[in-house]
Amino acid sequence: MMKSEYDIVVVGAGPAGSMAARFAAEKGVSVLVLEKDRDVGYPVRCGEAVSKAGIEEFIPSDPKFIATVINKFSFIAPDGSEVIVPLEEEGYILERRIFDYELAKTAAAAGAEILTRAYVNGLLFDGNKVNGVKFEYDGEQKEIKSKIVIAADGVESRVGRWAGLKTHIDFRDMESAVQITASNISVKPDTCYFYFGEEYAPQGYFWIFPKDSKTANIGLGVGGDMNRKKSALTYLNNFMKKNYPGASVLTRIAGGVPCVPTLDKIVAPGIMLAGDAARQVNPLSGGGIASGMIGGSIAGTVAAESVLMNKPEYVFEYEKRWNDRLGKRHLIFNRIKNGIYNFTDEQFNGIAHAALKLPEEKRTLGNIFKTALVNKPKLLIDVAKVFFTK
Ligand SMILES: Cc1cc2nc3c(=O)[nH]c(=O)nc-3n(C[C@H](O)[C@H](O)[C@H](O)COP(=O)(O)OP(=O)(O)OC[C@H]3O[C@@H](n4cnc5c(N)ncnc54)[C@H](O)[C@@H]3O)c2cc1C
Repeated sequence: MMKSEYDIVVVGAGPAGSMAARFAAEKGVSVLVLEKDRDVGYPVRCGEAVSKAGIEEFIPSDPKFIATVINKFSFIAPDGSEVIVPLEEEGYILERRIFDYELAKTAAAAGAEILTRAYVNGLLFDGNKVNGVKFEYDGEQKEIKSKIVIAADGVESRVGRWAGLKTHIDFRDMESAVQITASNISVKPDTCYFYFGEEYAPQGYFWIFPKDSKTANIGLGVGGDMNRKKSALTYLNNFMKKNYPGASVLTRIAGGVPCVPTLDKIVAPGIMLAGDAARQVNPLSGGGIASGMIGGSIAGTVAAESVLMNKPEYVFEYEKRWNDRLGKRHLIFNRIKNGIYNFTDEQFNGIAHAALKLPEEKRTLGNIFKTALVNKPKLLIDVAKVFFTK
């Protein structure tokens, strides 16, 4: 039975929302999660790639949500040169519909209440402070009061905007992504493939993330203004026609990936943004599962502390903790992205040829970026900061 008031209401039961709910509930405050879809974890709009360390901070690895274990990256240049990089630390391709579900179960186990088919369509205010949400559930319009609302409502987030936060980002920074899950193909299940160049994904990259030896998530993200000239789907269709003409397509999805540093302001009185809603995606890779969980966990912890101390202004501590943990690092990743995303095909070919000259044991991700940015000494310092320091 729903109460009429909660300490914290979380909007959205993706990785960020579930972790916000769990970390808040673990501190003993009352938490309600409202999710608009019928099922937590579905539909999936994700390539499902994540590092092992990224998830194990929050949930032990479990074969039920791991499709494949990845221990190599393969980078393919426009002229077909392939650079294989063994990973220092393994990664996974997840079954996100199960993974998100399991994360939500950890929030429920901590005491959070979760309601699906609950579509949040407005906020309640006390003066300029947010103090609850309006939502539709079972065909009825409802209201619930809360001391704090955590908006973890994904890339298309509207909740932050309702609270007056500036959530808009330039369309050029919103990667336009499209992906299919293709079957009846042949892939190495331990390798993620990344293709670069004009033919594959201008100002972005094309990926093949295997789910088993016959099935893979295949997709690409292109820079926002590139999508106007030729759609991301056209690139994908051309690739499939050329490389996997006999493939069966099991799912097709499209979506935006906000490849930008975190929003300047992710907190306002009574409200905090987490995950894609706060633009907490890694701007270089476009990965947002692990960083969304980190953002959500910090938001949930700080929100609960604010409630327990009865100090509403304490919510602003979240921005500081997020910036110390990942926000500042994302600024560096964004600079590296801006240094490489306009590379020509010739430059990508040159990087691949130089990387292939490295002895195999030196072909690490950090060294590949060092090779790529050898003519941009300022960015080499950034590469050193994120790849060579712990
Ligand atoms: C094509 C594509 C491929 C990607 N591949 C990867 C990858 O391989 N690895 C990776 O790490 N990241 C990837 N990402 C990014 C990743 O999917 C997101 O960063 C991640 O899901 C963000 O988690 P979140 O909890 O912030 O948001 P979401 O997972 O989007 O969850 C938001 C939730 O809020 C709910 N919601 C929204 N509005 C409302 C409302 N008004 N009321 C109630 N509920 C609402 C939604 O239904 C949803 O369940 C990819 C993204 C795309 C588009």
